[in-house]
Amino acid sequence: MSKVKSLKCRECPEEYEISPKYVCDMCFGPLEISYNWKEIKKSVNKNSITNGPKSIWRYKSLLPIDGNDVIDIGTGFTPLISADNLSNFLGLKKIWIKNDSVNPTYSFKDRVVSVASTKAKEFNFDTFACASTGNLAGSVAAHGAKAGFRTLVFIPSNLENEKIVAASIYGPEVVAIKGNYDDVNRLCTELAETKPWAFVNINLRPFYSEGSKTVGFEIAEQLGWKTPDHIIAPAASGSLFIKVWKGFNEFFEIGLIEKPKNTRMHIAQPKGCSPISTSFNEGKTHPLPVIPKTIAKSLAIGNPADGYYAIKLAKETRGSAHAVSDDEIVKGISLLARTEGIFTETAGGVVIATLVKMVKQELISKDEEVVVLITGNGLKTQEVISSLSAPTEINPTIKSFEDSFPNY
Ligand SMILES: *Cc1c(COP(=O)(O)O)cnc(C)c1O
Ligand SMILES: [Zn+2]
Repeated sequence: MSKVKSLKCRECPEEYEISPKYVCDMCFGPLEISYNWKEIKKSVNKNSITNGPKSIWRYKSLLPIDGNDVIDIGTGFTPLISADNLSNFLGLKKIWIKNDSVNPTYSFKDRVVSVASTKAKEFNFDTFACASTGNLAGSVAAHGAKAGFRTLVFIPSNLENEKIVAASIYGPEVVAIKGNYDDVNRLCTELAETKPWAFVNINLRPFYSEGSKTVGFEIAEQLGWKTPDHIIAPAASGSLFIKVWKGFNEFFEIGLIEKPKNTRMHIAQPKGCSPISTSFNEGKTHPLPVIPKTIAKSLAIGNPADGYYAIKLAKETRGSAHAVSDDEIVKGISLLARTEGIFTETAGGVVIATLVKMVKQELISKDEEVVVLITGNGLKTQEVISSLSAPTEINPTIKSFEDSFPNY
């Protein structure tokens, strides 16, 4: 029997054959992969995983991939770093940093795109595409190059230049839309109806989003087969946030960890685009769409597809949701760099600023462990911090050095 059963509606009992399909014909609910856990349990154990490759492909048996040919650019199994300096600074027992900024294209998006590109090959697509807030474009372009696809990436025209360069270099068509991400996504959804293309985050979304659960797998494995007291995750569509939790629960399902009943899930968003956090804190079940205006462009989704599920999960795990200002984001980026030597992009700044806020609000006790997700690299959002970094210019003489730096 196959390990993948069907595509199942998240809202009604309807099931569909595995195919590039993402919404339920009956109720328009989102579709999700349904697995045959009994079958998977027979062949997957701690040993089979730890003997696997040092990449997301060590979890291949838990992903919706049939064959052995995967599109592998070295994604995943990123470091879980014990952030002792930051823990001391904030007065906490233990902060762990899941550093996904060191993936091949410098963001966690390589996880979702590795799965989506492999599945696109299995479905025999020849054209690969996405609607992107920035990091996805780079990852889709890189995987498209490796897989030999014709690749198109659609981005909002106001994107950071570094992110445009980081996608263009791999040779895709880069299409800049005059509008925000939600406009880009709307156009791409229309294109996906008429063109026979693999849009990773539209018609391949059920497969794509499964890539995110490998963050949960890795955290549990790297902590010694357990889950932490707290997770703080950034949210754009809300998909990563809910999939980390799904990863924990699947590990529980196949007997690798205990039920993650004491792990609380916390959402981090920028104030200028916080539809999920704001609605959570107002007691609403569905996020109210907003028009984004924030330096955290990788999180600038005003109408988040998984917002409803993210709110539900934060509530069910006794978690919380936060919104931080642009100023706090820049301070967060700087704090992480100066304490831990990790240069993250604005999304990571949102997470660190949220951590600082939660410590101030005493939402984390001194004896608890927290894992924060650092999902992207600071080299791609340099424009927000360039004012911090003006060097001191001197002549090439000892005198000039000592005149300028009398304390050394
Ligand atoms: C895309 C992205 C996220 C969040 O993605 P979701 O849509 O919520 O799954 C977080 N951080 C970075 C850097 C991203 O590029
Ligand atoms: Zn349905």
